[in-house]
Order: sequence, then structure tokens, then C-alpha cells
Amino acid sequence: MAVILVTDDSSFQRTIITSILKTEGYDVIQAKNGREGLDLARSHKPDLMILDILMPDINGIEILQEIKASSPDLPVIMSTADIQNTTQEECMKKGATAFLTKPIKKAVLLEAVIKALSND
Ligand SMILES: [Mg+2]
Repeated sequence: MAVILVTDDSSFQRTIITSILKTEGYDVIQAKNGREGLDLARSHKPDLMILDILMPDINGIEILQEIKASSPDLPVIMSTADIQNTTQEECMKKGATAFLTKPIKKAVLLEAVIKALSND
């Protein structure tokens, strides 16, 4: 089963996303901040990354750029409470596969995950 790296500074959000994904049989790795997310993306080579934008150490958009520079084939789904179109456009322009707004809805999350994992 696919390995999914969930990077979010909110333990509440990580727990929700992880439990949805595990119920569907995915293997989940969790990162509690941007630095850890980048490190685990390099060391564990996940099949997909779900990435929060607002984090205290490194902004998710900067992480997206670093990931796309080093692992261009790794799909990245952005997740944020920031629903501004400009934020979404910036993420898509920088290579994000999909953009989810919080609160995360199970059906929307799973649809984006399935689509992202089938896109290679
Ligand atoms: Mg956050």
C-alpha cells in the first residue's frame, strides 16, 4: 500500500488525516513541522505528501518548492484553512497536485489521494 507523509504542525489535524488514511489501508508517516517533513520526505521516499501551509518553522509553500526541486515526481496535496484564490494559484503554479481547504472532509481527501496516486 502507498506510503503517505502527513506534515502539519497541528496534532489535531495530523490525527484526523492519519486516521482517515489508515482506515483506508494506507501507511502513514507523520511530521510535526516543516523541517521534519523535508527530512522524512528525503529519508522515507513516500508516494505522496499531504502538506499544511501555515507552520511556524517553514511555510508549506517553501517546502513545496524544495520538494519539487529535489523530487519532482512526488505528488504533493496542500491543505490549509487559507481559502484565498491567490494562495491556491501559487501552490498549483509551484507544482502542487491538489489543494484542500480545512476542515478536511473525508470524501474530498480520499478522492484527492486516489487521484494523486494514480497520476504517475
Ligand atoms: Mg498549520
